[in-house]
Amino acid sequence: MTRTFFVGGNFKLNPATSAARDSLVESLNKADLDSNTTVVIAPPTIYLIPVQAAVRKDVKVAAQNCYVKESGAFTGETSPRQLIDAGISWVILGHSERRTLFHETSEDVAQKTRVAIDTGLSVILCIGETLAEREAGKTKEVCETQLKAVVALLKEEDWSKVVIAYEPVWAIGTGKVATTQQAQDAHADVRSFIASAVSANVANNIQILYGGSVTAANCKELAKQQDVDGFLVGGASLKPEFADIINARK
Ligand code: PEP
Repeated sequence: MTRTFFVGGNFKLNPATSAARDSLVESLNKADLDSNTTVVIAPPTIYLIPVQAAVRKDVKVAAQNCYVKESGAFTGETSPRQLIDAGISWVILGHSERRTLFHETSEDVAQKTRVAIDTGLSVILCIGETLAEREAGKTKEVCETQLKAVVALLKEEDWSKVVIAYEPVWAIGTGKVATTQQAQDAHADVRSFIASAVSANVANNIQILYGGSVTAANCKELAKQQDVDGFLVGGASLKPEFADIINARK
């Protein structure tokens, strides 16, 4: 397997002060991190520039969202062009909190992905099912529907700029992690969907991250699964254990 291990840290709307932000970055800067892992951290928009300036250069910085327009009368939004101009190379799109709290549809996420890639950003594309959908046996169908909207707007070569994060909504921030088998099965289904909807080559190369209550205690077993190429980490990315998760394959 040649896919590089990839760990993203989604700070969400944390921390609440610049002092706490600086100590978080400082602890990451001091940590002994596996040089074989690609690490991307996503602070809140207001902290993107100071974090980008302060963080070690082997850690990349992502926005947690962006809009589809370069500029204009769109109060409260951040444009992909502005992110690129600020030296930010990544963006998280389609996080379940954006989908549920801010009513982003799969088509919105697909359009944002299209524009982000056109502007030069790389994308962590989040997908995943709710508990009701899992219990109804719809995990595969839901993930495929979310992906289909993106497949419709991307060309094959665009997928080299995309990392998929499979994040079951019932596992995000709940302390209820998917079993290794649930994660592996969902990842294998996503990869086989990409093989049929895009190409075998893209399916082989695309990194599929697991997200949902990943901790230092559960990351090593998850990281052993064949189709788990890394993690998108929320809560634990704000703690020293984030370094252990980055080093899950060490
Ligand atoms: C996330 O926000 O993407 C996430 C996976 O959160 P947590 O790790 O806290 O479940």
